[in-house]
Amino acid sequence: MALTSKLPHVGTTIFTVMSKLASECGAINLSQGFPDFPVDEKLIALVDKAMRAGHNQYAPMPGLPALREAITAKVQRLYGFQYDTDAEVTVTAGGTQAIFTAIGAVVHPGDEVIIVDPAYDCYSPTVELFGGKPLHVRLGDDMKFDADAVQAAITPRTRMLMINTPHNPAGTILRDADMKRIADMLRGTDILLLSDEVYEHLVFDGEPHASAINYPELRERAFVIFSFGKVFHATGWKMGYALAPKQLMAEFRKVHQFNVFSVNTPMQVALAEYMRDPANYLKVPAFYQAKRDRFAAGMKKSRFKLLPCEGSYFQTADYSAISDENDLDFAQRVTREFGVATIPLSPFYKEPPSGQHLLRFCFAKQDATLDAAIEKLCRI
Ligand code: GLN
Repeated sequence: MALTSKLPHVGTTIFTVMSKLASECGAINLSQGFPDFPVDEKLIALVDKAMRAGHNQYAPMPGLPALREAITAKVQRLYGFQYDTDAEVTVTAGGTQAIFTAIGAVVHPGDEVIIVDPAYDCYSPTVELFGGKPLHVRLGDDMKFDADAVQAAITPRTRMLMINTPHNPAGTILRDADMKRIADMLRGTDILLLSDEVYEHLVFDGEPHASAINYPELRERAFVIFSFGKVFHATGWKMGYALAPKQLMAEFRKVHQFNVFSVNTPMQVALAEYMRDPANYLKVPAFYQAKRDRFAAGMKKSRFKLLPCEGSYFQTADYSAISDENDLDFAQRVTREFGVATIPLSPFYKEPPSGQHLLRFCFAKQDATLDAAIEKLCRI
């Protein structure tokens, strides 16, 4: 059968590859980003209660009103802006589905979309699937946002700029000055913004999260994407949401309704109630900062050189002092020979910078898991 692939360059995601290798080798899995500790019993009990109360059929297409209200209340509290609960909030099956749907809703064949490498691996293939042209630029020194590089990539065909803060895989954040530069460069254009903020609560050292929502000029042209999985340690629930001005959200929902139609009901009932207590999300930054610090302190004795981690639950580290192997080979060897699985950074680039030797470690793990991994990594 003659079959022309729509994504000829795409293989299996590095997350699946490394998690599979980790389980085959019995290695400690610091690769794919997910917590190895349990979800809060209170939240589990709320899901159980919702199922037993009969909330097991389709939710409304944009999401349960009670959950959308809880989302707008939380966003108002944190970012000081009131989205329209009916028209501007949609509950999604995780951040990836929200990103896919937003791109599918607005990117036409031939439109250019600016992607900043290293970029989360779903961005570029999704743009391509809808006929768009990904234009890749790079983060600058120390994995910081390079506004000049982004500005230089803008053309009359640019339809969208994709940003991500806190950044996966780099672990850096965008700050007020970056957001203002982005507002400057988009002013007077029809360029849309997709702001992937799934790690919004994982910002450390007292820094504020510079959400696109805080900047009216950005918010008015933005899909802002969030994740319940990251905040409430339940990545397998595949729950997230998208916020956008009415006109953009109307287009988003045209795609969403035929993509998943709606998202699972009992989790929505439970999350709506759980979010009523802001402590459930406000405690997240300190919780993860302690894990970042524990991992960094332990790794001081290793030969890895840690890059600054300002947010997310990922720590990047340079292994140049250990090996000059490419990162894919090195990550696989470390998994097999030293029993710790990590994520190499090259799959996050259109063209990986030559001579770059970086791995990403996920520190969303129990202290005992981190300590065991540190011990093994210090032997390398
Ligand atoms: N977001 C997770 C990570 O970066 C992976 C999710 C996935 O496997 N698709 O590790």
